[in-house]
Amino acid sequence: MRKQIAAANWKMNLTYRQGEQLLDDILNAKISLKDQQLVVFAVPFPYLIMVNSEIADAKNYFVAAQNCYTKKSGAYTGEVSAEMLQSIGIKFCVLGHSERREYFAESNQMLAEKINICLAYDIAPIFCCGEPLSIRESGTQNSYVEKQLKESLFHLSTEQIRKIIIAYEPIWAIGTGKTATTEQAQEMHSYLRSVLAKQFGDDVADELSILYGGSVKANNAKELFSSPDVDGGLVGGASLIAGDFIEITRALK
Ligand code: PEP
Repeated sequence: MRKQIAAANWKMNLTYRQGEQLLDDILNAKISLKDQQLVVFAVPFPYLIMVNSEIADAKNYFVAAQNCYTKKSGAYTGEVSAEMLQSIGIKFCVLGHSERREYFAESNQMLAEKINICLAYDIAPIFCCGEPLSIRESGTQNSYVEKQLKESLFHLSTEQIRKIIIAYEPIWAIGTGKTATTEQAQEMHSYLRSVLAKQFGDDVADELSILYGGSVKANNAKELFSSPDVDGGLVGGASLIAGDFIEITRALK
């Protein structure tokens, strides 16, 4: 059964203590997750071990890194490898967030390498894709996002693609308070699923989780997640407020 996922993206926010407090507040809500529902916290590198140990006893809760490097190891000062993440028990990694594509020049090809190395270390990538406003306004968003998928994911085997979580995040909706409408989200998610079905087959595409990201809030999550092809959300700003993220998690199908 397709997983429904509430993924928190803390980005470069919160001190260690604030992170601990936020996590405590969320865990204290004791949200009981159904088997197909997962909660994932994508947190800064220095907090990974702490969050992983705090959630150790919580069923269906996971921690994710927000990035990793393309290489196995070596003279790459400041970078963090998939092998290092695996060595501390990390099972998920966000890749290709639009902020990394924009500020750190991450290309589709580089992301294909990052996908490969994560999979080699048994880390499930949460692969972000999505178009800028100019592309949406020109009406070419489908082919733009399709290209991101093709260039970063289409070299994978059927077995490998099953491990990927996709997050469709229209850039014009990230951190802007401007959410895609339920129709816009459903339309793109269903398109992406059809693109994936052509390459990997209907059964595989049907099992893939496609999250929506872009100003998901406590008051719009239920409606967004109710669409048949929207399998939860990747949440930035609202994931930093315990009450809001709890509500968003409760909105999962
Ligand atoms: C994100 O960071 O992936 C995101 C969607 O942010 P926000 O929810 O703040 O728009």
